Amino acid sequence: MKPEICSKEIKISGIVQGVGFRPFVYSLASKYNLTGWVLNNSSGVEILVNGKDEEISSFLYHLRNNPPLLARIDAMEVNDSKDNGYTQFEILTSESEPGKFLPISPDVAICPDCLKELFNPKNRRFHYPFINCTNCGPRFSIIRDIPYDRPNTTMAEFEMCSLCHDEYINPLDRRFHAQPIACPTCGPQVWFESNHKHFADGEAAIKIARKWISQGKVLAIKGLGGFHLVCDATNNDAVLELRKRKKRSEKPFAVMMFDMRTAIKHVRLSKIEESLVLSKERPIVLTERLNNSTIASSVAPQLHTIGIMLPYTPLHYLLLEPAQNYPEALVMTSGNLNEEPIAYENNEALDRLSPLVDGFLMHNREIHTRIDDSVAISMKESIYPIRRARGYAPNPIILFCNTPETLSTGAELKNTFCLTRDKYAFVSQHIGDLENLETLNSFEQSIKQYEQLFRINPQFIACDLHPDYLSTQYALKLAKKNSIPVYQIQHHHAHFASCLADNEWNKKEPVIGVCFDGTGLGTDGAIWGGEFLFGNYQKYERKYHLKYFPLPGGDTAIHHPARIALAQLWAAKINWDSDLAPVHATSSIDREVLMNQLEQKINTPLTSSMGRLFDAVSALMGIRQSVNYEAQAAIELESIIDPQEEQFYPFEIQGGEIDVSPLWTPLIDDLHSNANLSKISSRFHNSIVRMVLEVCDKLRNETGCRIIALSGGVWQNKYLLQHTIHILTQSNFSVLCHSRVPTNDGGISLGQAMILVSTLNK
Ligand code: ZN
Ligand code: ZN
Ligand code: FE
Repeated sequence: MKPEICSKEIKISGIVQGVGFRPFVYSLASKYNLTGWVLNNSSGVEILVNGKDEEISSFLYHLRNNPPLLARIDAMEVNDSKDNGYTQFEILTSESEPGKFLPISPDVAICPDCLKELFNPKNRRFHYPFINCTNCGPRFSIIRDIPYDRPNTTMAEFEMCSLCHDEYINPLDRRFHAQPIACPTCGPQVWFESNHKHFADGEAAIKIARKWISQGKVLAIKGLGGFHLVCDATNNDAVLELRKRKKRSEKPFAVMMFDMRTAIKHVRLSKIEESLVLSKERPIVLTERLNNSTIASSVAPQLHTIGIMLPYTPLHYLLLEPAQNYPEALVMTSGNLNEEPIAYENNEALDRLSPLVDGFLMHNREIHTRIDDSVAISMKESIYPIRRARGYAPNPIILFCNTPETLSTGAELKNTFCLTRDKYAFVSQHIGDLENLETLNSFEQSIKQYEQLFRINPQFIACDLHPDYLSTQYALKLAKKNSIPVYQIQHHHAHFASCLADNEWNKKEPVIGVCFDGTGLGTDGAIWGGEFLFGNYQKYERKYHLKYFPLPGGDTAIHHPARIALAQLWAAKINWDSDLAPVHATSSIDREVLMNQLEQKINTPLTSSMGRLFDAVSALMGIRQSVNYEAQAAIELESIIDPQEEQFYPFEIQGGEIDVSPLWTPLIDDLHSNANLSKISSRFHNSIVRMVLEVCDKLRNETGCRIIALSGGVWQNKYLLQHTIHILTQSNFSVLCHSRVPTNDGGISLGQAMILVSTLNK
């Protein structure tokens, strides 16, 4: 009896283009003797197979469970179909359908196969800086439109040679439909230039770059998502020169090393940190620096941590390849003047970066979308993102409900925006601090790019409550122009919602949110930041908060922890004795002005900010009186911690307010008795851990809730985070924290989007 032939039609959405999905389907179909076809369209991949029932079942099983490395299946729909008469299995050409869309793969670090070829003298791509395949290489940064096909990328202007073309059309080749496929004959090239003078091309250009770096010079090097400023990380003078030119006095620089063997000479890595450093996303990972590391201290002044990454493009590997008398670690920092967006176009880079560097290592593969390096720390089993960009964006967050097309414009610092449609929330890459025109332009340009790529035309807008944020002003203007509704969302409610969404929280029951950060405008006009909320996506109650204290000069006080410390002492009625560090650090005239300001309540908005409390303690301990980058005082305070110390300082909970003034006297006593600063830092941190536990206990008694979401920039403090999670878990709480979007303001746009969507779906 002839075996029954049946047919199935399969529709798959997710990241299924540009990741070797069709060749994978092709060989899987051949394995199970199936006929039919596979094609890419604007919403994913479509497959039709004919064959024996059990073979189709095996085919479907493998499709679902062992997709290619870079693929991500979000949905798979299987329906019965009719035998279409195909006698073999074929890959059909892409179909584009208007209005349809699909997620796009982030850029991916060079894969082990390509790396082997890069250093194999017998390979025709030996030492070719743009080698890639379907498992690796540029994606998001070169895509101009969907579907993901070569003409829609910045590789369109390079015509494939016959050898590359043969690989490109061979379903069994690793480079089948690898859109950025290239070789030394037909692909992009590098060159070296300095002072408008062309020095060399190809390998010779890389040689000059290496020579100049080892001589202590500063270079601009074009990478994947933009330009880096590069110098020898083991040469203190070179690093200081780079700091001077970039106008970045103390904020730590990231360092790139050739491989793990080099890395472990400089930093301590846990197993999880190691896998994060090696992951295909290749983020900068913040790790503990070893005492005997030869990396210059000026790379990360005053800190015990250092941000490291491994090469992620073939060009980086060629630049870092070990050699005698060649530095084994390079500073790789964004190519910009302090706080501006990263340069990514050749002419723009020559314009903006020429005053900063001695020479340029350029190439002619255009970057369509600028994207910075990502930054992360590892937390227990998972990644804890600090800056989400290359390697992660534009991967969408999958929502548990369908959403209308919306735009959320995020916060001001560490801005990201978020666009939603269907079941997807597209959180943008890190845009930067919206404090200058260049970053605002980059923000507006990126929104347009995302809207076009993902076919989103926002019908609703969400933004922060703060009227001065440029992101708020943009949202209000756009809403007016397009006559669409705009929702202004409280900053800490957005943090809270962001953490819930990050954990795919889909229940309506209210939970506890502990939102600790620097600044966010409250609904009462005060500056919030030490908040215990109780609620869900739609609504919240503010149950407890740090007792208000005056912030002299408002937001500008963040630059001067000394002034914050003095204000705290004033509020706690403690004298400004001359032996206290912040008193010592301010002139008597400044103190007089400050005292007058506090007593007359002139420009002294009230704040409950936890970030400012850390600033005050850091100043009082003599660690940091004025800061050069955001959160510097708190970061340095954490950096000196003694993890063995278990004591803590007292505080009081009165009604809904948490009064920290009781901690000042014992802390000052400790300073007077010359107690170890490391111990004092721990005692302060431990007090905050206790505070969270005590308040959460009270909330559990009041509400019965035992689920706690931790969000806000203060939770970037690893000691605080780990100890809080530990103590809460031991007390039978269940703790949610971030793993896909940052806990800092980079996560705000997702929170805004979730609140907006839930309100609309109500
Ligand atoms: Zn590859
Ligand atoms: Zn070629
Ligand atoms: Fe915040």
